[in-house]
Amino acid sequence: MKEVVIIGAGPSGLAAIRSLSKYKDEVKITVYEVSDRVGGVWVNRDPYKNSPMYDNLRANFPKEVIGYPGFPFPADIKESYLPHRMILEYIESFAKHFQLYQHIQFRHTVLNVDIISSVKGKERWNVMVRDEETGAITNKKCDAVIVATGHESKMYIPDFDGKQTYTGEIIHSRYYQNPSHYVGKTVVIVGAGFSGLDILVDIHTVAKKIYVSHHDDHITAPLCENAEYVKDIAKINGNDIIFIDGKVVQADIIFLGTGYRYDFSFLSEKCHPVIKEDHVTNIYRMMVDIAHPSLYYIGLNKLGSPIREFCVQADLAAALIAEKIPTPSREEMEKDYQDTYKKNVTDLGLKPKNFHVVSYTQWDYYDAVCKQTGQQQPDSIMAKKLYNRFLGNFYKDFFQFKQGIYKRLDAENFEVVYEPEVFST
Ligand SMILES: Cc1cc2nc3c(=O)[nH]c(=O)nc-3n(C[C@H](O)[C@H](O)[C@H](O)COP(=O)(O)OP(=O)(O)OC[C@H]3O[C@@H](n4cnc5c(N)ncnc54)[C@H](O)[C@@H]3O)c2cc1C
Repeated sequence: MKEVVIIGAGPSGLAAIRSLSKYKDEVKITVYEVSDRVGGVWVNRDPYKNSPMYDNLRANFPKEVIGYPGFPFPADIKESYLPHRMILEYIESFAKHFQLYQHIQFRHTVLNVDIISSVKGKERWNVMVRDEETGAITNKKCDAVIVATGHESKMYIPDFDGKQTYTGEIIHSRYYQNPSHYVGKTVVIVGAGFSGLDILVDIHTVAKKIYVSHHDDHITAPLCENAEYVKDIAKINGNDIIFIDGKVVQADIIFLGTGYRYDFSFLSEKCHPVIKEDHVTNIYRMMVDIAHPSLYYIGLNKLGSPIREFCVQADLAAALIAEKIPTPSREEMEKDYQDTYKKNVTDLGLKPKNFHVVSYTQWDYYDAVCKQTGQQQPDSIMAKKLYNRFLGNFYKDFFQFKQGIYKRLDAENFEVVYEPEVFST
């Protein structure tokens, strides 16, 4: 019987437990989780870690796209963009339904993962864990490790010229809780990704003035009266914020919607992946470490359909670990990695960090991985259509897209129950 350690009991760790528990005769699972509950980032105000969740957050994706494939949200929920607490309840109900809790050791932090031996392709691992209740440190030996720790813990903080002279506050989105701190303030939001724009929507009724600083060509939708787009920050001088086109504004707060960087500080040097410009290199199927094929990452990708991705990847990890399908040769894995890099980065003329950005490439990827594991992707045609519609609406109007209400009709189709008029043109 193989021993497998899963690190993290957020949505991706839970997907991994479910997939592995199909092979209970072949695999023994141990899961370590820092918090005292499942759900990862969806636990708002988690007392055991600094959760990036905030009070008014509604999911960015309609529930018809965001859920575990084949495990729908309760039928009585009509709205599509759900508040975080409903997503958490759903994740908890998934864990209960599939009896996943029995495998999880809560309040246990993985401090270190190291490879002990590698004999004829069979690797052994040591996972060092701290019991946060007793302080006891133990070591667990195992045959495979699944990293499901998410990628929203290590903040990316840009280093602006003159930053040390700034007289206002610089706040990363990780520390955002609600709009109360922004009443009457002038705010420069840096970054126009989901977090920056979500916070714009949350604070625009109380803030005095908001500047949205970005360089993303897709972000052109009209803003509210007290907001305007500005270019990237060139430098800061006291309270003056100077943009690359020479425009100067004064602001009380620079709000960083600049996202996160991958952080695997618990992996020892021997097994730590090489990360180049926020791109985790040398991984097969965007999840298996080619140098150590019994080390798996679930959920590295960005801007895809996270939980669908987790399930597809978890099924692949489980089938490989339980030896239901062969682990490809090193050459095959390297070719897959090179092909994916070409498709996601080189062919599109993008930067290495775009390796993990899968908004448009995700569906082919899920199909390829599912084919390998012999699985079907439930509702993938419907999900793809609705994903494209939601993304189009998001770029059209950040303020209103979450009012959309959709209904799954069948595996290929959805119905628009309600959308603000702006989306019908
Ligand atoms: C503010 C915000 C809004 C978001 N909105 C959406 C959205 O609308 N729709 C969407 O699909 N996605 C959204 N996301 C993305 C979200 O991160 C993913 O949907 C999903 O929660 C990631 O799941 P995960 O399990 O991979 O990671 P996480 O949810 O981060 O879970 C990782 C778990 O690992 C545990 N852990 C970490 N390190 C260790 C360790 N060393 N030892 C033991 N345990 C450890 C953590 O405690 C945590 O419970 C949002 C993210 C943020 C931050």
